[in-house]
Amino acid sequence: MDKIKMLTPIVEIDGDEMTRVVWQWIKDILIYPFVDLKSEYYDLSLVNREATKDQVTKDAAAAIDRLGVGIKCATITPNAQRMTEYSLTQMWKSPNGTIRAALDGTVFREPIMVEGVSSLVPTWTSPIVIARHAYGDIYKDVEAICPQGSKAELVVTTDGEEKRYLICDYAKSAGIALGMHNLDSSIRSFAKSCFNYALNKGLDLWFSAKDTISATYDHRFKDIFQEEFDTNYKTAFEERGITYFYTLIDDAVARVVRSKGGFIWACKNYDGDVMSDMLATAFGSLAMMTSVLVSPTGKYEYEAAHGTVTRHYYRHLKGESTGTNPIATIFAWTGGLKKRGELDNLPSLVRFATLLEESTIATVESGYMTGDLKAIFNKEGVTPVALTTQEFLQKIASRLAKAL
Ligand code: NAP
Ligand code: MG
Repeated sequence: MDKIKMLTPIVEIDGDEMTRVVWQWIKDILIYPFVDLKSEYYDLSLVNREATKDQVTKDAAAAIDRLGVGIKCATITPNAQRMTEYSLTQMWKSPNGTIRAALDGTVFREPIMVEGVSSLVPTWTSPIVIARHAYGDIYKDVEAICPQGSKAELVVTTDGEEKRYLICDYAKSAGIALGMHNLDSSIRSFAKSCFNYALNKGLDLWFSAKDTISATYDHRFKDIFQEEFDTNYKTAFEERGITYFYTLIDDAVARVVRSKGGFIWACKNYDGDVMSDMLATAFGSLAMMTSVLVSPTGKYEYEAAHGTVTRHYYRHLKGESTGTNPIATIFAWTGGLKKRGELDNLPSLVRFATLLEESTIATVESGYMTGDLKAIFNKEGVTPVALTTQEFLQKIASRLAKAL
């Protein structure tokens, strides 16, 4: 069989620990045998981020901006313990944060659904995609302890002129205060990314906040979304047969639980943080959650939502086989290759990515999977078998070869 040709290289961003090992296995077993892979490779292992003083992360982000599509392996975000483990000269920032900031992007998370791994909410038969605003609010707040007798105020200075808002007079008790902010430009980028992604996927878009209580702050989000929609997206949504609506977060939560799934739920930063963990758990497994960063100008970066699976890595180093689930990482590859194929008008590449996804799902549905899925798998007439990661990848490869 002739290998599938590519035109534009994909930005390949390698990472750390167990997912770095699995990354190589996926390429060897599922990609190289079938695709004449063109990639621009960036090594974001912590070792290389240290060696390049994190320049490699900035270069990778610039490459996505230039080429349009990236695929990223999970990477370590350093903490105090990693500083010692890797003899770091600096606590390098989260690569995901750096790339997100460089592309001004929004992260969309979507569960991969497989028959036999059912969601804890029985009505959810289609995926719920969550879009989380990734800038500001409490993630960039300023907090203060306020002793009894003190007073906290919000001061906004414009051209030297001060406007003061009383937050609290702590006459009766000591307390706390916090100040947070967001930017119209960032909210607008968030809105644009959400509308573009909804059009791309052909899914309805919901946006929720709490504008009844936060009549200025949250209301601003609501207004900017509506303005963007009315000005730039309304017609395209009508043509695509999809809808956009805003609702209070309380109402959204109730509707989400009663829904069948099959829509995008856009959330403010904190809501998105909490709700995406809730959805990942309810849909069955973190190892089945995909993630894509979309910029307002239509650049894409695909990855798995989980981390580097550190505990498995140390068992792997001791020579034990781990049965790390590669599915979300496979879907990062297929997401990226499919998008590359669409942009370059390469139907054979799109078909390859689609068949790889179908083969992966069919392999699990026929009873072959990693241990984490076996523990929750339940399908009539199928006895699940737990495989090592490489055995599982081989099973997918033989199914894929037949399908191709
Ligand atoms: P994690 O790597 O997601 O792993 C947490 C646990 O979830 C694992 O120990 C494992 O449970 C289970 N798990 C996750 N993915 C799995 C898979 N593919 N197959 C089977 N089981 C899986 O999160 P973490 O341990 O909190 O973080 C480890 C490192 O990853 C940290 O250095 C963190 O900075 C980094 N991280 C990176 C990203 C990213 O790059 N996007 C995201 C999150 C975390 P068992 O051990 O019980 O099997
Ligand atoms: Mg969280």
